[in-house]
Amino acid sequence: MTENKELTQLGKNIRKDFPFYKNNPNISYLDSAATSLVPRDVINKIIYYYESLGVSVHRGVYQLAAKTSEIYEDARKKIKHFLSAGSEYEIIFTRNTTEAINLIAYSFEKAKDELNELFSGWKGGLKTGDIVLISESEHHSNIIPWQIISERTGIKIKYIPIVKETGALDITAFNKIKNDLDDKDVKIISLAQVSNVTGIVYDLKPFISYAREKGSVFIVDGAQSVCHQKINLSDLSPDFFVFSAHKMLGPKGIGALCGKKEILNKMPVFLGGGDMILSVNKEKSTYNEIPYKFEAGTPNISAVFGFSAAIDYLEKIGLQNISDWEKKLTLYAMEKLSEINIQFFGPSLEQVKSNEFKKVGVVSFGINGIHPHDIGTLLDENNVCIRVGHHCCQLLMKAWDVPATCRASFYLYNDFEDVDNLINGLRKTIEFFGTHNS
Ligand code: PMP
Repeated sequence: MTENKELTQLGKNIRKDFPFYKNNPNISYLDSAATSLVPRDVINKIIYYYESLGVSVHRGVYQLAAKTSEIYEDARKKIKHFLSAGSEYEIIFTRNTTEAINLIAYSFEKAKDELNELFSGWKGGLKTGDIVLISESEHHSNIIPWQIISERTGIKIKYIPIVKETGALDITAFNKIKNDLDDKDVKIISLAQVSNVTGIVYDLKPFISYAREKGSVFIVDGAQSVCHQKINLSDLSPDFFVFSAHKMLGPKGIGALCGKKEILNKMPVFLGGGDMILSVNKEKSTYNEIPYKFEAGTPNISAVFGFSAAIDYLEKIGLQNISDWEKKLTLYAMEKLSEINIQFFGPSLEQVKSNEFKKVGVVSFGINGIHPHDIGTLLDENNVCIRVGHHCCQLLMKAWDVPATCRASFYLYNDFEDVDNLINGLRKTIEFFGTHNS
C-alpha cells in the first residue's frame, strides 16, 4: 500500500471529509470504539446505490441488476485484499461481528461429523464436556453465543483470566490452563485481537499454535483491530476473522465473516430462505455454494456499497498513517490524564511508551470517588462525547471489581484539541465534585 506522506497530519486536516463536523463543529467525538464517523465518500456511495441502481443482486437478468451484482461482488474481493486473505478464504456478509460469531456458533451446534475430516475430535459434533476457550476480557458478543450453545450441547466454556494491573490476557494462567485441558477436546478457541476496553493489541500466535496442536477451530474477533492496523490473514491464518464495517468508517448494519473455504463448505447452514438454496423440494432442499449458502434473503446492498467505499478511503489515507496518528494522540492523552487524579484501566503510560504493550487509540480510566456516568454526563455538557459503562465486557469489570469505566477512543479525525477538551472537562468535573462534596 502506498502511503501519502502529506497525509501524516490527520485530525483537523481531514475533517472536511466528514460531514458530521460540519453539523457538529464543537463536538469532541471520542467514542469511535463504539462506532466511527462516516466520510462523505461512504455516504455518496450509498446514495449512488439508491439513486442510480436501487435493484436487487444476483437474480435479475437486466443490466442494472448485473451492474449492482458486480459492485456487490467486487466488495467481497476488496475486503479479501484489505485483509490480505488468500484464495483459501471466502467472505460472507453478515449484519455485524455479533451476527458473524452467532453464525459460526449456531452452525457448529448443528454439525455432526462434517468437520471431523478437518479437525480432530469433531466426530459427532459438540459433546458434553468439550471445551470452548475464550477470555475474561471478551466482548459479550464473543461470550453469549457460546453460552447459548453450551446450554444446548453441554460444552464447557473455559476463560483465560486477565492480569488485574493491565487487563491483559494472563499468559502464565493460559499455560496452566493448557495443562488442565490436556485430556480434553478443545473444540473452539475464540479471542479478540484488540480489547475494546484496554486497547491492547494481542499477539495471537501462541494461541493459534495451541489451537493447531489441539485440533481446535480458531476464531479471531477483529472488531477493534481491523480499523486500526493492517491485518494479514495469510500470515496469522485463523480459521475465521469477524468484524463490523461501522467501526472502520463504514455503515451500520453490515459486517463480514472471513472464513476458510474448506470449513465453510462443510458447515451446516445458518438461516434458511431465498438465495441460499439450489433447488427446493417438498421434503428436502439442496443448498447453494458458499458464500451464498450463508446469505439468506435480500442483503443490505447499499451498506455493502458503503463498506467498499470505507475500505477505499482507509486505503487512501493508509493504515500506517492512522496508527501513527492514533499513537501520538494516545500518548498525549495518557500523559495529560496522568497529570490529573485518574486511574488507568489498562497498561500504564510507561508500559505503552516503552512498547511493552502495543495499544490502539482506546484509553479506559476512572476518577476516585466519581461515578463514570457522572463523568460522562458532565463531559457531555462540555461537548465531549466519551463512553461510560461496562463496554459490553462485564466479566472484565468483575475481574477489576468495578461497575464501569470511562473510555475515550481516538481515530483519524481526532486532534490534540479533542484531548485538551477532554482534560478541561475532567478538571471541571473534579472541581464540581470537589466543591459539591465539601
Ligand atoms: N467485539 C468487540 C471487541 C467489540 O468491540 C464489539 C463492538 N463494541 C463487538 C465485538 C461487537 O460488534 P457489533 O456490535 O458491531 O456486532
